[in-house]
Amino acid sequence: MNKRYLVALDQGTTSSRAVIFTVEGHVVASAAQEFKQYYPNPGWVEHNPGDILSTQIESLRAAVRTAGIDPNEIAAIGITNQRETTLLWERSTGKWLYNAIVWQCRRTAPYVEKLVKAGYGDLIREKTGLVPDAYFSGTKLQWLLDALNVRDRAEKGELCFGTIDCFLAWNLVKGHPHVTDATNAGRTMLFNLHTQEWDDELLKLMDIPRALLPRVIDNAEIIGMLDDSILGCPIPVAAMAGDQHASLFGQACFEKGMAKNTYGTGCFMLMNAGNEFRLSDHGLLTTMAWRLNGKPTYALEGSVFMGGATIQWLRDEMKFVKQAKESEAIATSIPDSDGVYLVPAFTGMGAPHWSMYARGTLFGMTRGTGRAQIVRAGLESIAYQSRDLFEAMAQDIGEKPATLRVDGGATANDYLMQFQSDIAGVAIQRPAVLETTALGAALLAGLAVGVYPDLPSTAAGWHVEKKFVPAMDADRRAQLLHGWERAVKAVLFWAKDE
Ligand code: ADP
Repeated sequence: MNKRYLVALDQGTTSSRAVIFTVEGHVVASAAQEFKQYYPNPGWVEHNPGDILSTQIESLRAAVRTAGIDPNEIAAIGITNQRETTLLWERSTGKWLYNAIVWQCRRTAPYVEKLVKAGYGDLIREKTGLVPDAYFSGTKLQWLLDALNVRDRAEKGELCFGTIDCFLAWNLVKGHPHVTDATNAGRTMLFNLHTQEWDDELLKLMDIPRALLPRVIDNAEIIGMLDDSILGCPIPVAAMAGDQHASLFGQACFEKGMAKNTYGTGCFMLMNAGNEFRLSDHGLLTTMAWRLNGKPTYALEGSVFMGGATIQWLRDEMKFVKQAKESEAIATSIPDSDGVYLVPAFTGMGAPHWSMYARGTLFGMTRGTGRAQIVRAGLESIAYQSRDLFEAMAQDIGEKPATLRVDGGATANDYLMQFQSDIAGVAIQRPAVLETTALGAALLAGLAVGVYPDLPSTAAGWHVEKKFVPAMDADRRAQLLHGWERAVKAVLFWAKDE
């Protein structure tokens, strides 16, 4: 049978999706199922592992049905996933011991504080590239072992730890392989990015028995065959990658300095940093881009907490727009934002400014300021924050890249994209396929099974749908940036005395 399709399982925070691509990279069909979020205590977030499995399997079946294809035509399946979310199950039965602890969950903040107070912050950063935080899996696993009192069982090898990629592979692939990939391992705070192995010193620090841990594999590697019960035939499951890494791959950012920014609720920017591990001077994370044939490629990562969420705020709280997309017409109804800046630090500011206590602030209003100026300032704030990340990354790697590739819901806004290009002084490339996360997982799987002979040939399906080039003169850019920088400085000053 002609193997014409590649499938991505995209297990996200609020839904499980499956996307079917042709081997040329076109979307044939997709399906998604949402599942319930559990908030058992303030700041805690959990998922039911059974829900994750059932929604993932159902969406895969639904996508195959919608596409009207024969599963025998699928060349390979790739998995991509919400990162850091932590699970523990019994090796002999597969029964989970507790709900999945979701990346957003803050329950282990005191564990992290203890590690940092004891002076381990730099050690963790130098080994893992991560700034210690409850976000990563290590302390979540530590919490599970403590709360369930199962360290003895873990030491005897009776239990398995895994992030979602690992959990899906265990449950969907014949023979229950216990594996994770290097990008997901890299988000645990237990994985040494230099040696590409679990790190004994870190394991000891968080009191994690090694017998719990999955084997770490490459991003394009045949894990095994999909269990026949799922689609009625065996199909190679041949790739795993955390969502942001899959998206960097799906954007074909294969060279050092190539970067992508995803404009969703928040913005996630990753820049390919080449084959040498380097720590950021700006508080960015160092993470895996991917590992192929045992060879690591690294990336710098930063996020904007309030990206598209700024527009949601303008819509839901301020009632300035009825729909997010209206923001474009309102913003372009005036020639400029008239000196108004919104710093949407509603939940503090991330890289490169880092302030937990910063709060949202509007600057530069006059008697004539109205809804249009504030909406425009809201859109521009997404671009200014992304520009700050991009500049920080450029300084870290020592070169300023000429382009930035984009995806995510808010990239539909042409005004935002043009302003991004103007203010960052880079060309913006918006690809035809915006499903870059799913595409990345599918392409990695295709690479593993030989659909593509080499890395460059996976990019054949990547096409620019629209390009935005800087059109603002240098003086104007400098003037606007000066205003933004003053606004950020004022916000940080205000936060200092908290
Ligand atoms: P997520 O995956 O985080 O849910 P999406 O990629 O679906 O996010 O993007 C949705 C976000 O993009 C929302 O925060 C929304 O406010 C914003 N958004 C969507 N369309 C537009 C638009 N045309 N202009 C500005 N923002 C938009």
